[in-house]
Amino acid sequence: MTEVLKTHPNIESVWLLSPDGSFQPPRIAVMGALHGNERCGLAAIERVRADAENFASRMRRGTLVLIHGNPLATEQGKRFSRGGVDINRLFAYEYLHDLAQAAWTYEHHRAAAIRPVVTDVDALIDLHSASRPTDPFAICDGTPEGIKLAQSTGCNITYGWDGPGMLMEHVSIGALVAAGKPALSIECGQHADPGAADIAHRILCHFLGALGVTDHGVADETRATYRLFGRVVKPTHDFQLAGPFKSFDRLAPGEKLGSGDGVIIHTEQEAHLLLPTPTAVRGEDIVYLARKE
Ligand SMILES: [Zn+2]
Repeated sequence: MTEVLKTHPNIESVWLLSPDGSFQPPRIAVMGALHGNERCGLAAIERVRADAENFASRMRRGTLVLIHGNPLATEQGKRFSRGGVDINRLFAYEYLHDLAQAAWTYEHHRAAAIRPVVTDVDALIDLHSASRPTDPFAICDGTPEGIKLAQSTGCNITYGWDGPGMLMEHVSIGALVAAGKPALSIECGQHADPGAADIAHRILCHFLGALGVTDHGVADETRATYRLFGRVVKPTHDFQLAGPFKSFDRLAPGEKLGSGDGVIIHTEQEAHLLLPTPTAVRGEDIVYLARKE
């Protein structure tokens, strides 16, 4: 019998799935558990692997590249490994030149190892979850094609992550976005939500269907679109958000966003919150602000 699933010949914890065992292009990368405490994307990948023959029979062309993003952090149940760094800030690959290899953490090595299947593929979906409850949402570039692809997944749509001072070039989808190729990062729900794995799998199927790689249908409802205009870095050690915010909560102009000793931040204009992260430490992003389109 033809093998439709195989392990990647030289990258650990990466698998290839093909409709007929020929492993032809285009290559569509599917990433899960880039952050080790975000299991839903990995669960979706495991489900595809466990159901390989059936899933492959729904493929029309190409090769799926299934990537377990951060195996050590997954083992440790943490966002990143002990003593390590957030791997989803390393994909500009500046450290290859700027940081002596002796100083690399596990995540630096892992980002280098998966570079070919992150930067040199034809499309990528990167499945995450969030520390606070959220409706599923897609992070895309703001092009009409990117927004249309995000709409096909049935998620809320966010864009503007590539504005000045934002993070797009440092995250997993940055290279493909810069190359004008289809790439989405998805927040599927809260880490602990037992439904997030099903959501991740469903979104993945819609994504592959939209690309014409599988015969899955796309989502039939169109969700709201939000454009980012701000990124709030936690300014002081004791700064706290003003409430138990969730993604897409709305603040009116002048409402308090958060405060700490000697610091209060109010919104100047209406803002929808994205990825509020009460556990952020000083200097990390504590929340993003978006406008509903
Ligand atoms: Zn994540």
